Amino acid sequence: MSTKWRVYCTTHGYQFVWSDTEPIECPIDSNDTINSNRNVIILKENFWKEISISTKSITSSQYVRIHIFYHISNATLRRVSVSSFMQGSTIQSYDIQIYNKTQDQIILTKNLTNTGDYTVTDVGMVSQTPDFGDEVEFNAKINQNVPTGNSVNFNAFFLYIEGLDR
Ligand SMILES: [Zn+2]
Repeated sequence: MSTKWRVYCTTHGYQFVWSDTEPIECPIDSNDTINSNRNVIILKENFWKEISISTKSITSSQYVRIHIFYHISNATLRRVSVSSFMQGSTIQSYDIQIYNKTQDQIILTKNLTNTGDYTVTDVGMVSQTPDFGDEVEFNAKINQNVPTGNSVNFNAFFLYIEGLDR
């Protein structure tokens, strides 16, 4: 149960419910109706946040930016996973780099070797959570020159967040 909701019950007024999904009934009496238009998330903690991106294919042996985000949150970014794979038979491995551009600080690097199709891989824990508003880049490079028809493809990042997301 990672999400705390405030709901409005016609009998009992405002109530608080911990639930991973949007509540549909009153926590005191399940026969009561709640006004779902008034459901509000008031707290999220220790959850994975998915950042879907349009499919990005890279062929470069220098770091290329896959995505950029702003850490508009007081929550702690703890770890990162990525959905990606190597395509073609020539590539040996590729590197993911999470770079806090605002602080000029590399907070995570990992070498990956998965092939075939999109797989979500744990990149690991960041060395330092971004501050509120920091600009953070997801970069990647392939550790060799890449022949035509080979690439590394990305379609999502996942952020493990601890604490209040607001
Ligand atoms: Zn009620």
